[in-house]
Amino acid sequence: MSGDGTGIEGARERRVRTGGVELCVAELGDAAHPTVVLLHGYPDSKEVWSEVARRLRDRFHVVLYDVRGHGRSTAPEPLRGGFTLEKLTDDFLAVADAVSPAAPVHLVGHDWGSVQGWEFVTVARTEGRVASFTSISGPSLDHFGHWIKDRMARPTPRRVGQLLGQGARSWYVGALHMPALPEAAWRGPLGKRWPKMLERAERPPSGGYPTASLAGDAAHGAWLYRDNVRARLRRPRTDAYAHVPVQLVTPAGDAFLSERLYDDLERWVPQLLRRTLAAKHWVPRTRPDQLASWITEFVTAQEAARQEGTPARMAVGSGPYAERFGGRLVLVTGAASGIGRATAFAFAEAGARVVAVDRDAEGAARTAELARLCGAQAAWGECCDVSDEGAMDKLAAKVAAEYGVVDVLVNNAGIGLSGSFLDTTSEDWRKVIDINLGGVVHGCRAFGRQMAERGQGGHIVNTASAAAFQPSKSLTAYSTSKAAVLMLSECLRAELAGKGIGVSAICPGIVNTGITGTTIFAGVSEKEQQRRRDKISRLYGRRNYPPEKVAEAILRAVVRDRAVVPVTPEAYGLHFISRFTPRLGRAVARIDPKL
Ligand code: NAD
Repeated sequence: MSGDGTGIEGARERRVRTGGVELCVAELGDAAHPTVVLLHGYPDSKEVWSEVARRLRDRFHVVLYDVRGHGRSTAPEPLRGGFTLEKLTDDFLAVADAVSPAAPVHLVGHDWGSVQGWEFVTVARTEGRVASFTSISGPSLDHFGHWIKDRMARPTPRRVGQLLGQGARSWYVGALHMPALPEAAWRGPLGKRWPKMLERAERPPSGGYPTASLAGDAAHGAWLYRDNVRARLRRPRTDAYAHVPVQLVTPAGDAFLSERLYDDLERWVPQLLRRTLAAKHWVPRTRPDQLASWITEFVTAQEAARQEGTPARMAVGSGPYAERFGGRLVLVTGAASGIGRATAFAFAEAGARVVAVDRDAEGAARTAELARLCGAQAAWGECCDVSDEGAMDKLAAKVAAEYGVVDVLVNNAGIGLSGSFLDTTSEDWRKVIDINLGGVVHGCRAFGRQMAERGQGGHIVNTASAAAFQPSKSLTAYSTSKAAVLMLSECLRAELAGKGIGVSAICPGIVNTGITGTTIFAGVSEKEQQRRRDKISRLYGRRNYPPEKVAEAILRAVVRDRAVVPVTPEAYGLHFISRFTPRLGRAVARIDPKL
């Protein structure tokens, strides 16, 4: 893309005349492929989509146009009344007829592009011209109007809270209704400061955006609000039902729109697929990979269904986390057993693509196979010893080349080691530190660097333990390794926050897994080792806390971006003790477990 907004690299441009304006239309890719129209919002021009368009051009005929009065499209005269949704629908139909006269187009809208999109897919005159709609950060004004009316008609404290919450986010809409002032601000100081403000708020990767037309776009675009918002919110249409399948992408950190706005959407949209994204408002700039992949998946499924005349089949996962993890790439270490395997399955059920890593190759392959049965869009087993830095680097390079950059990394592989400090040999120490801490360090470095370089966010989960904050005279080496994992996670969380990458430390208590069968007991004979393993296995079996619950806590920690997550009641209790009564914790540390 050229930074001055004079076009998108490699695009073919044409002008489409309609309703007294001339629209600047850009096309990429083979016109014989299904057409995807990307519609920009406010204050933007079509260049906001350049990164997404680049990723879609090989598979689709990608079309972008500057909305009237924006970018290099001309503005209506007079401006007042020139931006009504009816006129914007005329523009869209003119572009669709010009670029794809024979087949309906797949529409994708962001911000006001999405607000317009909702109009296009809910009015009768576009029927047959739109095949699907992906809506990002822009509600239907009609649905919004009903959302407000419903909450005013039946106010409960929760619903009033929702109204106030959205009201606080919409303050700027009122400001844009003032005469002349917004135009003066945008053509003056606001226009000059906007790129910096955007960079501070959203941290989009650099790349010639916003374009030089920003001030003019923003000044003209104020009429989008003035011509439509008040009228539609006061008298929303009662027949605003979508006549196409809709994919709704909701950035969870959107400063302008509450997630609650879409609570009632099933009422208006018979075929709705929901997705959520840990991101702020300008996702076409900050999350182009994710958007391109969801658009590709959705459009491909809708096209196939259209050709076959059947409803679309989409592998989107199930359960409460499907919206968030469907199609995401998740890598779990120590995935052949216990918590790691359960975590791989939980992500699989949510529709993620899963890479199951373990030094037990057969176990990893088995987890991948079962993950596919659980609902993973794809799953692979990889054999790797996490304590081997070179092997982890190679794995990271392979994963990036073959499956892509990991969205969620779960550094979970670990071993147990029990015994007093004086009984623990240097060799024992090396083993537990190399795997429990080294494995996490190598994972964070190799995969975290890729996440950071991609610049599109992500999440790292490190499995620590309640032993990270509760000392014990019989777990010195293990507790030390886990305390280090906890601190590493906290430090990394601070470092990566600016890159939109969350880091969580999971601290389970006693969980019934295979770890009891492999734990090393320092300073005792082979026979005694086995006796203790059997005894502790029985104890863990009696406690019987399932690894699936830890897996659920891991998914929840990613969605909520939690820093430290105790799992199991005893882990909560010990966490509380370590924070508020550490002396009690020290007394507990002296208890002899008598194995
Ligand atoms: P588990 O023994 O069932 O699973 C651990 C997996 O890690 C195994 O598949 C094993 O092959 C793999 N692994 C071990 N070393 C590896 C290496 N060097 N490279 C690659 N893979 C390796 O145990 P689990 O209970 O599921 O443990 C998972 C994590 O949870 C560990 O970090 C453990 O310390 C932690 N944890 C477990 C409990 C518990 O009570 N089970 C409590 C707190 C923390």
